[in-house]
Amino acid sequence: MIKAYAAFEAGGELRAYEYDPGVLASHDVEISVEHCGICHSDLSMINNEWGLSEYPLVPGHEVVGTVNAIGGDVRGLAVGQRVGLGWHSDYCFSCSSCHEEDHNLCGSAQGTIVGRHGGFADKVRADYRSVVALPEGVEPASAGPLFCGGITVFNPLVQYDIQAGAKVAVIGIGGLGHLALQFLRAWGCEVTAFTSSESKQIEALALGAHHTVNSTDKQAVKQAAGSFDLILSTVNVPLSWNNYVEALKPKGRLHFVGATLEPLNISAFGLISAQRSISGSPVGSPATIKQMLTFAAKHDISPRTEYFSFVDINKAIQHVAEGKARYRVVLTHDQSLLIQV
Ligand code: NAP
Ligand code: ZN
Repeated sequence: MIKAYAAFEAGGELRAYEYDPGVLASHDVEISVEHCGICHSDLSMINNEWGLSEYPLVPGHEVVGTVNAIGGDVRGLAVGQRVGLGWHSDYCFSCSSCHEEDHNLCGSAQGTIVGRHGGFADKVRADYRSVVALPEGVEPASAGPLFCGGITVFNPLVQYDIQAGAKVAVIGIGGLGHLALQFLRAWGCEVTAFTSSESKQIEALALGAHHTVNSTDKQAVKQAAGSFDLILSTVNVPLSWNNYVEALKPKGRLHFVGATLEPLNISAFGLISAQRSISGSPVGSPATIKQMLTFAAKHDISPRTEYFSFVDINKAIQHVAEGKARYRVVLTHDQSLLIQV
C-alpha cells in the first residue's frame, strides 16, 4: 500500500489516504519520496481550476527520492539511485513530438497528478523515461522544485535560443520566477524583475535581477516601453498585458508559463507594429531537464526553500496560497530540515 495525502473534493483539505498501486508495470520505477515541492499548479488542481481534477486527488509533482523498485524493462536506473520526477510521468514515445525529443508536447503525455497519484506520499510510480537521475552538485533536499518550476522557466531559454546579453524580464517572483532570475543571470542576460511585492524588490536583486519594477504599476510598466527581447510571465492573474507587449523591443516575445485563467486581452496592433509575438509552453522534456540540472549544478543555482513536515501538509498549502512562500515550500520526510515558519 502507498500512504499518501489526498483531497477528496474541490478545495478540500488533504487527508491521509492509502491506495494499492498493484503490480509494478515493466517500464515503471517506484520512487521512495524524500522531498516534494508544492507548486501553484498543485493548488489549482486541488481546487479543480482547470477542470482536470479527479478525486481522491494526490497532488505533488516536484519529487526527489530514491528508486525503491524497477520493472523488468527499465534501463539506466538502479534501485537506490537518487532521482527526480516532475509534471509528466509517462509519454506515448511514438508521436512526432516524442520522436523529436519534445516529449513535453506529446498529446498523450500523462500528468503526474492528472488521473494518477502524485508525490504527496511515501512512494510514487512513473515510467522510467520521465524520471531523471540527480547529478553530482545538485542538493537533493532543495532539488524538487527544479523538476517543475525550474524546467518551466529554463525551457524557453533553450526553445528560443536566447543569447547572452539579451534583455529579459520576469513577471512574478514566486516559485517559478525566483528560479528564472537565477537562470537568466547565469545565462548572461540583463535581467529585470517585475514584482507586485515591495519586500521582494531587494531579494530579486540578490537572486540575479539587475533592475526591478512594480508589476502592477501601469505607469512604471509603460516607462519600460521598447526594452525587452523576452518577457516571461509566471503570474496566474490578469495584468495590463498591452503595456507588457509595448515593453518588448521589435521582434520581442511575451511568453506565458503562468496559467492565467482569464482570456488575454491583447491588441493586435501592439504585435503587428513591431512584429512581436506571444507564446506559451509546458514544463520541458526529460532531455531539457537533464540539461537544466547540469546548468544548475555548474552555476550553483538552487531553489530557496522552506520545509514543512508531511503531517503539516494543510498548513504548508495555506502558506503557499497566501503568497507567503519565500520562495518554494517543500514537504519533507527528513525531520532535520524542519524549522518553525
Ligand atoms: P507562485 O509561487 O504562487 O508565484 C506566483 C507569483 O505571481 C507570486 O509570487 C507573485 O509574485 C505573482 N502574483 C500573485 N498574485 C498576484 C497579483 N494579484 N498581482 C500581481 N502578481 C501576482 O506560483 P508558481 O508555483 O511560481 O506558479 C506560477 C504559475 O505558473 C501558476 O499559474 C502555475 O500553475 C503555473 N505553472 C505553469 C507551468 C507550465 O508548465 N507552464 C509549470 C508550473 C507552474 P510577486 O510577489 O513577485 O508579484
Ligand atoms: Zn508545477
